Amino acid sequence: MNVASAGLSDRGRLRPHNEDALLVDADHGVFAVADGMGGHAAGEVASGIAIEALRELLSRPRDADADVPALLGAAIDESNRRIAARGDENPDFRHMGTTIVVAVTDGRRCWIAHVGDSRAYLVRGDSIRQLTSDHSFVNELVRLGMISREQAARDPRRNVVTRALGSGTVVTPDIVEEEAGPGDLIVLCSDGLNTMLDDPAILELARSRGDDAEGLCAALVEAANDAGGEDNVTVIVLSFAA
Ligand code: CA
Repeated sequence: MNVASAGLSDRGRLRPHNEDALLVDADHGVFAVADGMGGHAAGEVASGIAIEALRELLSRPRDADADVPALLGAAIDESNRRIAARGDENPDFRHMGTTIVVAVTDGRRCWIAHVGDSRAYLVRGDSIRQLTSDHSFVNELVRLGMISREQAARDPRRNVVTRALGSGTVVTPDIVEEEAGPGDLIVLCSDGLNTMLDDPAILELARSRGDDAEGLCAALVEAANDAGGEDNVTVIVLSFAA
């Protein structure tokens, strides 16, 4: 596959635990970031269950004509079911949940599924575009025209997600397909990146180290920490060969 990839997760500067988890499977073109929540270490249990379920269900060879959106939907559904089941077994885990953003690629086409406020960005040339739309309270206000994107980024309620795995019997991911071209970058991240760095700052770092996926991951995490490191930060970079 003509895609270089790397991933990095960091506790950040303030949080006692890292409740994020990630999956980087370059062999099968499967990548995911999960951002757990729930207190008392339950967040890392939820994100861990989600990543493990995705690994089991998606990290395997696929036929060229595989229905990837259907595979993604089934894997996310199973993740949700397992987290909820674990919460039913143990009261400590009753209110845990996790976001998920997953990218599956064959080296050209890229399918992105997400639930919650973990994001995927496409960096192409001198532009950056968010491929996901946050399932969050403040993003709903933005969509309704009640506040601006800039206000949303500073709003104290910005951590409130409106969809998460483990929170209900049915979870509906958004799934999009993108055609990746030579030189494109796809960046997956938890909100610990994008609450510390705005889109232009992410773009600037991406432009300076585009084809060095590992170096870009390290630079993004370092920049988020330099900006305060208020949350766990997880980044995956896919770099499509020029
Ligand atoms: Ca977070």
